[in-house]
Amino acid sequence: MKIIVWFTQDLRLQDHPALAAALKDGLEVYCVYVYDTLNPEGPSGAANWWLHHSLVSLNSELAAKGGQLLLRQGVSADELLTLAEQLDVQAVYMTRSYEPYLSQQQSRVYQQLNIKGGTVKRFAGYLLLEPDTIFNKQHKPFQVFTPFYRHTRDLLNLGSLKLTTSTNFAALIPKPPKINSESIENWQLLPSKPNWAAEFAEYSNPGGPGAKAALANALATVVEDYPQNRDFPAVDGTSRLSAHLHFGEISPRQIVHKVNSTWGIDDEKSGPFIRQLFWREFNYYLLHHYPDMRASAFKPKFNQFPWRNNSQHLNAWQKGLTGYPIVDAGMRQLWRTGWMHNRVRMICASFLTKHLQIHWREGEKWFWDTLLDADKANNIGGWQWVAGCGADAAPYFRIFNPIIQGEKFDPYGDYVRTWVPELSLLSPAFIHKPWQAPHGLLAQSGIKLGTDYPLPIVNHEQAREQALAAYKAIQ
Ligand code: FAD
Repeated sequence: MKIIVWFTQDLRLQDHPALAAALKDGLEVYCVYVYDTLNPEGPSGAANWWLHHSLVSLNSELAAKGGQLLLRQGVSADELLTLAEQLDVQAVYMTRSYEPYLSQQQSRVYQQLNIKGGTVKRFAGYLLLEPDTIFNKQHKPFQVFTPFYRHTRDLLNLGSLKLTTSTNFAALIPKPPKINSESIENWQLLPSKPNWAAEFAEYSNPGGPGAKAALANALATVVEDYPQNRDFPAVDGTSRLSAHLHFGEISPRQIVHKVNSTWGIDDEKSGPFIRQLFWREFNYYLLHHYPDMRASAFKPKFNQFPWRNNSQHLNAWQKGLTGYPIVDAGMRQLWRTGWMHNRVRMICASFLTKHLQIHWREGEKWFWDTLLDADKANNIGGWQWVAGCGADAAPYFRIFNPIIQGEKFDPYGDYVRTWVPELSLLSPAFIHKPWQAPHGLLAQSGIKLGTDYPLPIVNHEQAREQALAAYKAIQ
């Protein structure tokens, strides 16, 4: 049998049930990726940079096994169906996608090939659990993380997760006769004028080998001390696996499996790290059951929230020029590296939605464009959580104080010094509140506030009071 394996967010060769089944069932296996030009959840901005390198890497891995990645651009289902006809294949195998658009495209391929007598198989592999199989005792979807986590963790029996391994790649077809792959260079996923991605490669290594290296590093240096280090942005205390997971260069099962064989599945040692993987599961679960979350607040009363339209403030936030050093450091780290530390994502998101009262969707849009790990479920989940309007969200009245957050999680100011170099000579006592520093000290540190570094664009106390008043108005 001839089979197409349709790669989407599963850009890996191992623990890939669809590929493993195709290699077992097929005599000729074609590997296809479609860059979908209509996908509203598809990569944009920075994530396109990652995708480019990830596809190049997957193609090299396939080539080493005797195969090739056949590239197409267009509408996924149309391209798949045309290729199926051209290659005269009888079956299409794929990893099930949970993002609404890709999931619809997969269903179209399923229906139309079925009508023609073809076989379409969808395999689980992107998540640890299938969102449509999990319900609470009232047979309703979970809306609170902790019970969801307890329930699913027990159900999954993490210590005995099995991986799917493929050893025989003989059925891979190097190049189908008369059919050429499109050239990835023509897709122009990499920025050139200007090349705002110039520094990305210093911090990230897209592709399967990069994912394996990130996991190995996490096992050696992150997992054990994760609870102590994870909130300190100046410390390399988190795994940096998010973009690898988003593009499926590694599966969550592979991560859990390795964590288990190295540290065991143990609440004390590996529990806090594993728990974060379940936030990813939870966000996908919510998006699956409540797809409207993409555009509107999970808690409907927030759709009446008096968001402000202030392009000057939005612009200052995007550029890292708010005058609050921890916020500015985060926004600049994001712009230069395509990644931001989770604690700082929360601080920056809180500042935008609460201090500036700008709609969480503006922040979601900016992150969507600038994050290498931009992911609809996690980004929307993260933004709605911080804004207070999501399922199981932080209460709106819990407003992060950017000065205290900075002093607590960047006590020596190292993180700020890295990303806001104009403050690098300021002492830890004032680095998170330079406007309170004595003039002499500012002069000694080479800073003229308002010239070298902005004064705060809003006053923390006033902004806090105004945010609370706005929140009360929608109760
Ligand atoms: P680690 O701390 O090493 O965690 C391991 C893995 O667990 C991560 O790779 C990720 O897959 C998952 N994870 C960890 N924390 C979370 C979380 N809070 N929610 C969901 N999954 C989590 N994550 C994205 O992958 N894409 C996004 O677009 C995204 N947008 C966010 C927006 C906001 C406003 C906030 C507050 C968080 C967002 N997150 C997003 C979640 C989190 O910040 C990142 O997953 C994490 O910082 C990635 O770094 P890491 O891989 O080193 O994480």
